[in-house]
Amino acid sequence: MKSIGRVFGYLRHYPGMAAAQLFCAIGMTAAVFVFPNVTRKVIDEIAPDPSRHGELGFWVGFALLGFLGKDLLNSLRIFINNTFEQRVIYDIRSDLYGKIQRLPLRWFDTRRTGDVMTRVVEDVTNMERVLIDGIEQGLVAALQVIGVGVVLFVLHPEVAGWAVLPVPLLAIGAWIYSTKGRDRYRNQREASSDLNAVLHDNISGIRQIKAYAAEESELHRFNRYSAALRKATLRMMKWWAIYSPGMSFVRMTGYVVVLAVGGRALIDGTLTTGKLTQFFLLLSLFYDPIDRLNGLNQMILSGRAAADRVFEIIDSEEEPNSTEGAELPARIEAHVRFEEVSFGYGDQPTLHEVELEARPGETVALVGSTGAGKSTVLSILTRFYEIDSGRVTIDGIDIASLSKGSLRERLGYVTQEPFLFNGTVRENLTLAKREAAEEEIWRSLEAAHAESFVRALPQGLDTNVGERGVKLSGGEKQRLSIARALLKNAPILLLDEATASVDSETERQIQDALDHLMADRTAFVIAHRLSTIQNADRIYVLEKGRVIERGTHSELLAREGKYAELCRKSFLSPEDSGTFVQ
Ligand code: ADP
Repeated sequence: MKSIGRVFGYLRHYPGMAAAQLFCAIGMTAAVFVFPNVTRKVIDEIAPDPSRHGELGFWVGFALLGFLGKDLLNSLRIFINNTFEQRVIYDIRSDLYGKIQRLPLRWFDTRRTGDVMTRVVEDVTNMERVLIDGIEQGLVAALQVIGVGVVLFVLHPEVAGWAVLPVPLLAIGAWIYSTKGRDRYRNQREASSDLNAVLHDNISGIRQIKAYAAEESELHRFNRYSAALRKATLRMMKWWAIYSPGMSFVRMTGYVVVLAVGGRALIDGTLTTGKLTQFFLLLSLFYDPIDRLNGLNQMILSGRAAADRVFEIIDSEEEPNSTEGAELPARIEAHVRFEEVSFGYGDQPTLHEVELEARPGETVALVGSTGAGKSTVLSILTRFYEIDSGRVTIDGIDIASLSKGSLRERLGYVTQEPFLFNGTVRENLTLAKREAAEEEIWRSLEAAHAESFVRALPQGLDTNVGERGVKLSGGEKQRLSIARALLKNAPILLLDEATASVDSETERQIQDALDHLMADRTAFVIAHRLSTIQNADRIYVLEKGRVIERGTHSELLAREGKYAELCRKSFLSPEDSGTFVQ
């Protein structure tokens, strides 16, 4: 129940709405007594007394007014409730998304996107249903059960005693159902998440699926998860199919018992016809909310399973120093050093006592075979991951002491496969600098050789680039991501050169754009182009997470070591500007 308690914690921010709900619920409970009372009055007092027959119209009107009052209050309550609920959903989603953004990359490494999406979109709504129905139905129902119960006992304690007989049975049934049902609901939520994860993955990878003609097998895979969801849902529903009618039967026996005991009391003359009729009318008002409370039980179970999944994220450990930490001075030299840095993603070490240095304005190239640890070096500098030992400093300041925001503001990162968001060219660029002026944007586009193609787009800067930038070519995406880094104008540049081959004109333009980008900046480049490597101030050769060679292109060639071997394997002549080794 802890998670349910936490859900209710979100209501604290809206005390006015909570009070208004309570007011409506109490008013409605009072209004439900009008009709049974009037019925009794008409049967027992008005009908037998001809001198009062003229009052019938008044009492009928009064009964109608009772219903009108009840439903007006109900309308108001639903209205308040919906606003209330949507605000709380918004608050929880906002907290959840805010939290997700502060989680370390390590967390994302082990998650499936579809699962996280299910939690943010579906689970938040599901847990919130506890609130809508918890308050809307629960509060009204509880008040009604108590209020009507008291009146029943006042009317005729003995018959009332028999009438409440099913209540303990209903309570026990509800208790068994909720204690045994939790796993079923959790399984159902998880199966739904699994299906979403597969769907997300497949839709992102639809090009690969089509290219490999894997539609059929992917449909089978999808159906497998879909069948698992069907099974989990049916399992949950099977129990509901037994529980719900079972409880209904127990309730109905209550009516029969009242018919027996009340009929006897009527025969004995201890109960009037009007009172017995009133009793039956009240009895439906007594059992109905119990029925709704049972429905609520199902809602609470599913809400609890959903809340557990949401709070699991909210309780996850955040990136250290995601908000607090020291700030870098406004102007930095951008002198970067790795001192005996060791790091592992899991138990296996990936970097071993790595020593690197990039002095202000220098370009440092990282080369080595795939899996050598080059990308990891960049991830360490951005603090996507925290190192296990050693130190990384910028101008002598340990980056571990900095706030992540302050550190990342000074880094420009150009990834190998540029990621563009589904938005306009402008939105993708201003991600780097929100307040960038129009001319500043064009200047960076020009320097990145992207100006002419952006001008030729149907809506220029305001053209939508499609999901992951599908509407642009590889070379265009690369140049846009270079323009984005130029706009950011960060003093330290991290660059993972693209390996995808583009035509030689685009290649030349990209190279020129990169030269612009690297000028006057301290740059770490995972180099794949021979020209970049030749121009680098220093080259570090990595192998299995260790720096095995360092020096300039000619120094390293002369050494006849790993670097020379890599150069030979790439079959490149020095004047060729094509792709170097991976
Ligand atoms: P490179 O960039 O030189 O190709 P990486 O730095 O990407 O190499 O990878 C170095 C090693 O770390 C590889 O063995 C790779 O499998 C592993 N690795 C990379 N990223 C992760 C990750 N997020 N989780 C676990 N292991 C990873």
